[in-house]
Amino acid sequence: MGRLFTTSTSLFAVLLMASCGPSTDVPDNPADLILLNGRVYTMEEDQPWASAVVVTGNIITAVLDDDGEARAFRGPDTEVIDLRGRFVVPGFIDGHVHFNNAGSLINDANLMAVADDQGLAEEMRRVLGILDEGEWITGGLWGAYEEWGLGAEAAGDKSETRWAPNRWVIDEITVNHPCLLNSFDSELFLANTTALRAAGLEDDPVAGMQLNDEGVPTGLIYRGSPALERIRSVRTPKSHERHLNENRAALKALREAGIVEIHDIARPDQTARFVELQRNGELTARVWLRPDLSQGADLGAQGFTMGLHPDSGEPDPFLRYGALKAYIDGIMGTHGALFFEPYDDQPDNYGHYRPHTSDHPQLQVGNMEKMYNLIHAGLEAGFVPNVHAIGDRGVALMLDLYERLMNEGVDLSGFRVIHAQVIRPQDFPRFQQLGVIAEVNPYHISDDMRWMEERIGYERSKGAYAFQSLLDNGAMLSFGSDWPGTSAAEYHMHPKYLIHAAVNRTTLNHTPEDGWFPEEKISVHEALKAFTINNAVAALEGDIRGSIKAGKLADITVCDRNLLEIDPDDILEMNVDMTIVDGEIVFRRDR
Ligand SMILES: [Zn+2]
Repeated sequence: MGRLFTTSTSLFAVLLMASCGPSTDVPDNPADLILLNGRVYTMEEDQPWASAVVVTGNIITAVLDDDGEARAFRGPDTEVIDLRGRFVVPGFIDGHVHFNNAGSLINDANLMAVADDQGLAEEMRRVLGILDEGEWITGGLWGAYEEWGLGAEAAGDKSETRWAPNRWVIDEITVNHPCLLNSFDSELFLANTTALRAAGLEDDPVAGMQLNDEGVPTGLIYRGSPALERIRSVRTPKSHERHLNENRAALKALREAGIVEIHDIARPDQTARFVELQRNGELTARVWLRPDLSQGADLGAQGFTMGLHPDSGEPDPFLRYGALKAYIDGIMGTHGALFFEPYDDQPDNYGHYRPHTSDHPQLQVGNMEKMYNLIHAGLEAGFVPNVHAIGDRGVALMLDLYERLMNEGVDLSGFRVIHAQVIRPQDFPRFQQLGVIAEVNPYHISDDMRWMEERIGYERSKGAYAFQSLLDNGAMLSFGSDWPGTSAAEYHMHPKYLIHAAVNRTTLNHTPEDGWFPEEKISVHEALKAFTINNAVAALEGDIRGSIKAGKLADITVCDRNLLEIDPDDILEMNVDMTIVDGEIVFRRDR
């Protein structure tokens, strides 16, 4: 891994000038932006702290302990910002995002935490303020957290105690908007009267509609029914502009969270929207696209490889192809992650494979040769693999496959095990031995701890989200949010949630008090590292960005408090005050 930290020497000249002291004249090389009086945590071992950062164009041109020296770069057009002692870090890089899904939870209905009529009505009012008149309100995923709140015993029990919405709760509010909302498991849908009318179902019910005691449709509609088909057939698909607006809302959320780059699980239609937003000057986060592993050979045949823009085919540090994403197993949330021993609460279930590793119809028989061949095809096209592996067996099989590639002489730089959620004791040292990155999702701890032990027991849970054990064994951590989550769990993207989860290992309500398996808590320093320089290294660009250093790209986040000094219980209070991407201030918080 060491070779990835190669130092950039191109800016030595600027550094030498900086150390010559302040000059009274306008400098030959005036800066565009000077940040003064900061507590700048650079993530560089040679100079861990600084006071001032000088930016020219999109490059950090000096990092200084003395504000006076920084002022020497001031020209007539230089913006000078006094940070008044605020905490500055390299811009946060989110190593795992599903960008395409994120905006719909902002601009369309999000009912994941809603389990009563009042919550439903409130959410409809919120969405009305965003959409144009007549637009469909869709999505929702109601009941996601009601299910988890009930625990495993009650889960799957569709008893009367469960909240179910009806159309009369939302009709008055949504009269100008047809609605088709769904439960988190997509077993039930809710149509308002406007939608029923559009499908001709208000007075003329067909199979699949729930009726009340008077025989009147309540608006609830069952999965796979003729009624659902009818409504879907009249629903207007989201327009291109609405998709773009969802993207814009997601980009705004990223800016406000101090995130300067995402490693996105790319879909072709979203990739085209990124290209359009970039052309419009609206793309305010760098995007490292991770297409599906199966696309490696095709992309290679079209002349694409890692680092190249998906439209121009030229190198582009703002929007470009990154690694190929693959999956070995399922997820914990559905008992699909692959284990050596069965789930404690499902004694016949060991989890399952995914199509990259299995041709079996029920995904019960693994075929690592299949993935081996796909990875080779990707490598030939110049793409490294980033592979999802969650259960202890999934992780072990993936490490075996990487080891096989290493023994063939393949350089494993940039290879990741994505999630690496449950690891056997003997597999921890293998990450360092192979030089494979553990891409982890700390916020999953805050969400999953509620049911983890009842699913895999105490012993196996010791190796779950075991970040300190990974660090003790020399592994490199890469943080990602997995924003916006699955249909059953919402994963927050703001860095405060991820840092809180990794450092405190509690829920958002600070339970359990000492943290879940507290020996696996990591320091704030390690969390910041996993969120900044490590993610640049994980994208094979550690030499050009990811820390605050002269010569690197100017991606900088200003926080309202020093995370290294505050009580860790207060991490969730943190705000981002400023976000700088590629030398541009893309967000400033009003204070
Ligand atoms: Zn994901």
